[in-house]
Amino acid sequence: MQKQTVAFSRDSSNLFFHILTRCNLSCTHCYINKDQHGTRTLDIRTIESWLSLFSEKASSTNLIYLGGEPTLHPDLALAVKVSKKLGFKSITIDTNGYLFHDILDRISNDDIDYLSFSLDGATPGINDAVRGKGSYDKVLEGIEKAVSKGFSCSMIYTVSEQNLHELKRMPELVRNLGIKRFFIQVIGIRGASSKAEHPLQVSRKAWLGTIPETAEKIAGQGIIVTYPKVFLDPDEIFECAGNVAENFFVFPNGRVYQCPICEDFPLHSYEIRQNRLVPMPRLNEKDLFALNIPEGCVMNKLLQSQNLVYDTGGRPEHRIACCMLKEEIMPSRMAL
Ligand code: SF4
Ligand code: SF4
Repeated sequence: MQKQTVAFSRDSSNLFFHILTRCNLSCTHCYINKDQHGTRTLDIRTIESWLSLFSEKASSTNLIYLGGEPTLHPDLALAVKVSKKLGFKSITIDTNGYLFHDILDRISNDDIDYLSFSLDGATPGINDAVRGKGSYDKVLEGIEKAVSKGFSCSMIYTVSEQNLHELKRMPELVRNLGIKRFFIQVIGIRGASSKAEHPLQVSRKAWLGTIPETAEKIAGQGIIVTYPKVFLDPDEIFECAGNVAENFFVFPNGRVYQCPICEDFPLHSYEIRQNRLVPMPRLNEKDLFALNIPEGCVMNKLLQSQNLVYDTGGRPEHRIACCMLKEEIMPSRMAL
């Protein structure tokens, strides 16, 4: 197996495109905040226009369709075909597994690179407590159907205090599912998570005690595993993706963020107005990316300080990496 930290690429960008905020589920950690992101469902013409704002760099841009639940959009298949024509480097649909509007019959594996399913527990008990009754079965059914139709599938597991203990059971669960990639996410304290009664963020000790080992076990089964670095080692360099990479998180009310941690606040860098990408006046997230602080990520310090621990002298015990900095484990040929 080969493990590497995936630095931000200067040559490629990511476009996280929320085409609606509506969803059939109401997960306890959902980051969608309708007060900040609106309730609009973008029509296909608007989706085309907004895609074209980013299409100059399409060949170096990974496009990810998100919601809400993107398959609830009646024209998702059309949107996928338009983005394919525009030549995006890769196209992914993130889904909660319900696969509305017969999406698997309206697109093919040639149209998209990945169909990514969210599952937040190794058992229905934990997953459904987080994501809603019946969602566990729907995800497994959806993966089976998608794999049998030849789609490349991945899985996203968002780790919190609620489900960290079940991550250890995931290597066994995913063994025969036919997924090609497994993404571990760390919970962001925004949207519904920011209103949780109990803290959801896991400690550094719990994170380091579980994530790397489980990731290696999953990779040992021939699956590519990606997880966020979260805590920097003392000798590692801190970089803010907002300064050195191009990530755009587009919401249906036109807000365009470069840092996902900011999404609960009107700190977005751009706004799409009359199909133009308009830079926002100061103060916005870009002004904050430039701040150099001993804690590392400035938004963790300002907006989700639960991650930070200080010594008796008031110095941070560790620095927080950019949430876009990932570790990636490639399975070895032997493991495959
Ligand atoms: S499936 Fe996604 S968008 Fe829907 S409630 Fe859950 S986290 Fe939110
Ligand atoms: S998570 Fe922190 S380091 Fe990364 S883009 Fe946001 S502010 Fe910058």
